Amino acid sequence: MDADVLVIGGGAAGLAAARSLARRSLRVLMLEARDRTGGRVWPAAPARAGVAAELGAEFIHGPAPETMKLLRDAGTAAAGTAGESWKCGEDGELQRDDDDFITGAAAILERARELAADESVDRFLRRFANDPAAREAIATARAFVEGFEAADPAIASAQGIADELASGVDFASARPLAGYGPMLELLRSDCAAAGVQTSLSTVVRRISWRRNSVAVETRSGDGESRTIRARAAIVTLPVGVLRHSGDESEVVFDPGLPEGKRDALGSIEMGHVVKVALWFRAAFWEQVQSGRYRDAAFFRCIGQPFAAYWTQSPLRSGLIVAWAGGPKATALNAGSQEELIGHALEGFGALFGEAARARKEFEGGVMHDWGHDPFARGAYSYVAVGGGDARAVLAAPVDDTLFFAGEATSTDGQGGTVNGALETGERAAREAAAVLGATV
Ligand SMILES: Cc1cc2nc3c(=O)[nH]c(=O)nc-3n(C[C@H](O)[C@H](O)[C@H](O)COP(=O)(O)OP(=O)(O)OC[C@H]3O[C@@H](n4cnc5c(N)ncnc54)[C@H](O)[C@@H]3O)c2cc1C
Repeated sequence: MDADVLVIGGGAAGLAAARSLARRSLRVLMLEARDRTGGRVWPAAPARAGVAAELGAEFIHGPAPETMKLLRDAGTAAAGTAGESWKCGEDGELQRDDDDFITGAAAILERARELAADESVDRFLRRFANDPAAREAIATARAFVEGFEAADPAIASAQGIADELASGVDFASARPLAGYGPMLELLRSDCAAAGVQTSLSTVVRRISWRRNSVAVETRSGDGESRTIRARAAIVTLPVGVLRHSGDESEVVFDPGLPEGKRDALGSIEMGHVVKVALWFRAAFWEQVQSGRYRDAAFFRCIGQPFAAYWTQSPLRSGLIVAWAGGPKATALNAGSQEELIGHALEGFGALFGEAARARKEFEGGVMHDWGHDPFARGAYSYVAVGGGDARAVLAAPVDDTLFFAGEATSTDGQGGTVNGALETGERAAREAAAVLGATV
């Protein structure tokens, strides 16, 4: 045996699981395809004046206890997002948006809980199409599903989203001060201190298993193949990777996963996002129109390719993030990164009729193409029509040998988030430790 437990994937869930298992005196080997851990949490280096451009996760949603504890232990903290919201009016002009975006979406989407049978968000919203008073709420609900959930309304479960909204999940957002980097660093150093062996640039290709035994075939960066054995494995692979088949990047389970698990995977989709970070020499938007947008946090223009732009408010910085989610992101994804950065820059300048000034102040942009990334295949998960219990089924252990973690296995409304990933990593570690008889 090379280890007691293999942790497959070194993102937030994998790091949390590995740390927790090693602290229970189990021998842990974490296998990560990339040349870094962190997965979909990836601060772009270097930070500027303490502000990091996050290529992946940026916000903290709700109380997020696991995240908050890690930030405290890392000697840092979180700052709540604050500032004004602006939206594009029908005439294209920016106007103050005092209505809470999520409350507006929830007002209509929560009614899907009354449906006798689940249906797509698209279909559900069409029920209100003849009500002129519902026009704005429908548009907000659609923008929320696409932008926040990164979901395609034609596929997403209306009841799934309604349940999430009604579960009391707090969407109030904060950001880790100086980004997610310190939290990742702490997890990495805790893992090393607890004795976790981490194997980077190690792509898992086949997971052969029988009760109390797994043999994992890997390929390393230099093309070398290896078989690694353990008593159990915690699988934290993104749903996009688990669902992918038909080429050499497919991860094969031998024997295949039980039918229920495969059905569940069929009901959990990977949402798409295009997130572009734009650095400016000066926060020019704070000065235009006599400082009208000085305290802006969010700009929402739901009819445009990038439906939202945000500042780092309450921090004052030259960083702007452009965001497109769901079908808008899929449509944009055909462009090269250079084109997308240019597109985001033009769109942002155009908000104020200041395209030339935006270009003049522009220092550079960064992004990562998560949709074409073979180790992510999308941004984060959402539940498709009829997939009510799919996350719970995906989370369930198989034969006390394969355990499952990762954001898609979060069952308490935290799917798609960093905190959901951390929490599922700890949950899977507890499950595996109990089976292996490991003490706390
Ligand atoms: C653009 C973007 C913005 C986001 N914004 C937010 C946000 O603001 N707030 C928030 O809470 N969440 C956000 N998220 C979601 C958040 O990043 C994820 O939910 C979370 O990081 C997932 O962690 P995980 O451990 O489940 O998966 P991952 O981080 O994806 O970890 C899985 C690991 O498995 C590895 N892997 C894949 N295939 C293989 C293989 N064959 N062999 C070995 N290893 C493999 C991957 O490289 C990866 O490191 C965002 C995500 C994206 C992409």
